[in-house]
Amino acid sequence: MALLQIFDPKARAVPIGIDLGTTNSLVAYVVDGGVECVTDCNLSPLLPSVVYYGAHGATLVGDDARTLAALHPRETIVSVKRFMGRGADDPETRRLGPYDFVAPREGESNTVRFRVHSREVTPVEVSAEILRELKGRAEDQLRTVGGAVITVPAYFDDAQRQATKDAARLAGIEVLRLLNEPTAAALAYGLDKGRTQGTFAVYDLGGGTFDITVLSLDDGVFQVRSTGGDSQLGGDDMDRAVATVLLREMGVDDFAHASPELVRRALDAARAAKHRLTEASETTVTVARDAGEDFSRALTRAEFDAIVGPVVERTGPACKRALRDAGVKPEALDGVILVGGSTRVPLVRSFVRELFKHEPLTDIDPDQVVAFGAALQADMLAGEGPREDALILDVIPLSLGIETMGGVAEKILTRNTTIPAGRAQLFTTYADNQTGFVIHVVQGEREMAVDNRSLATFTLKGIPPMAAGLARLEVTFRVDADGMLDVTAKELTTGVEQRVEVKPSYGLEADDVERMLMESFEHAESDLAARQLRERVIEAEQVIAATQKAVGIDGDLLDEDERAELDGALAALRDAVAKGDRNAIHHRTEGLDRAATPLAERRMNRAVKRAMSGHALKEFEDELDARPTHPHLVGDGHTH
Ligand code: ADP
Ligand code: MG
Repeated sequence: MALLQIFDPKARAVPIGIDLGTTNSLVAYVVDGGVECVTDCNLSPLLPSVVYYGAHGATLVGDDARTLAALHPRETIVSVKRFMGRGADDPETRRLGPYDFVAPREGESNTVRFRVHSREVTPVEVSAEILRELKGRAEDQLRTVGGAVITVPAYFDDAQRQATKDAARLAGIEVLRLLNEPTAAALAYGLDKGRTQGTFAVYDLGGGTFDITVLSLDDGVFQVRSTGGDSQLGGDDMDRAVATVLLREMGVDDFAHASPELVRRALDAARAAKHRLTEASETTVTVARDAGEDFSRALTRAEFDAIVGPVVERTGPACKRALRDAGVKPEALDGVILVGGSTRVPLVRSFVRELFKHEPLTDIDPDQVVAFGAALQADMLAGEGPREDALILDVIPLSLGIETMGGVAEKILTRNTTIPAGRAQLFTTYADNQTGFVIHVVQGEREMAVDNRSLATFTLKGIPPMAAGLARLEVTFRVDADGMLDVTAKELTTGVEQRVEVKPSYGLEADDVERMLMESFEHAESDLAARQLRERVIEAEQVIAATQKAVGIDGDLLDEDERAELDGALAALRDAVAKGDRNAIHHRTEGLDRAATPLAERRMNRAVKRAMSGHALKEFEDELDARPTHPHLVGDGHTH
């Protein structure tokens, strides 16, 4: 649906940020001032960093490869990052993995080679497979992908950094810059905004590695002050600790005495239970035995904490050392950032809080935060995008307005107004005690907001309860000479005010404008069914996008079952959209709405909790009673 696309795919090569992780890799990009991860068909942003080599030269990357790792351990390369830039004679190399290494030959370079079937592959080639897959995913979503910022651990040496660059080149990716992972996390949190000095700790607990970094910000530039960690410590160790307990209770006192399949099942069950216990305080773990009845037991968060406590505590000494090396006391830190999937574990969070004497920053998904920072850096390095590709205008090509009650688009600046231009209009409340307004900015000529292009939505809150029609909302639209739209909404009786900036023309080419106009003229005669289908598709895509976004930000609020249900509803709706079945789209949009309700409610709670610090609960109850709605037009409403 071209109408919903923020970027015209033809117009701009989108710079991307890549987190090339040991366990999982991700790719993200900047869209409309925000950052988003590219997701796969299951809406997961994570690509397991696993590559399977088939007998006939084909490769599989990601989830499918990970499934095959247990069956084909020698042909499936996991955690290839550990081998990057390492020599074949490095004692560390042999210790890692069950692989069939090719002995270095006389007169050849000393790089590691894995033998997979009749081929030999290097870690650079394996990493290139992962990068190629990530780039492909990004292209599916963005069409034209520009250069990339790729993150590497702060401790990577020159050889490891060079190997990473070589892998990118092999995958056909232009590297704008390599960026240290902890720095990327700090950028994602915007710690460089609004200050020039500061000291931060980045605590990164992934699947199999633990990294601690102390960064300082000097004159707006991040510098690594110290690094430390343990390259053999992570979430996998928690899984092993829990699986050990399960197997012991099943009568197996040592991993070595169990069948490899049973060990795999116990580890999988342990990991799934660990993920569930991030939200739940108790869960049931079930492991199928090799024969006979399944083993099943309840596992509480407290028991889990006791089992994995020693793993978490092993991160302590490296943290203290890193602080000492950097010459800072915990109290002197300006912030502590959590990175890596394993920092979702509540015990890890409380451990970090006590150790660093700081409430750690967790607002950004710890899986995605590094990729986000890389994307922001890529966007910055690539500039704002080729400006000449944006429509150069001296008039407003399409009308700009807001959605009012009933979904009607009220035009505030009409098409062909010369710019710069500005105009204000008055609105009021529709319901008694309404304490907010939803301002939905739209662009286009159609009568209903839903038929136009949605540019931005924001909410004006904090208006004291009044009878309907008493509030005076003044909405001002200004478009500057660059075509930038600035929207201000101000409640006149209280002076409460909000502003947003939007780029109304961005990514719209003259053709699009033409087409949108034609649509608005033709629409009277247009086939009703076709129009309804289009509306349904637009609605569906909006719900899909909103759900995806909500999951990206607050997906951790769902347990595994709820997440699976949501993913199923998303897939079903996508399928209906692909088939163009109007009724199915309608039903499945409702289905997705239902499946997303728990997430919506919990997000609301989380937002309220956050906002509440400093406010009395009563205030919020009032606010929730009269939810913000779209404004209502006053008379003919025009003030000037
Ligand atoms: P890496 O940086 O090594 O690529 P990640 O940051 O992707 O690794 O972390 C992967 C680890 O995070 C795995 O051990 C996984 O089990 C763990 N993990 C992911 N989600 C959760 C969760 N909800 N609760 C606990 N651990 C989680
Ligand atoms: Mg990582």
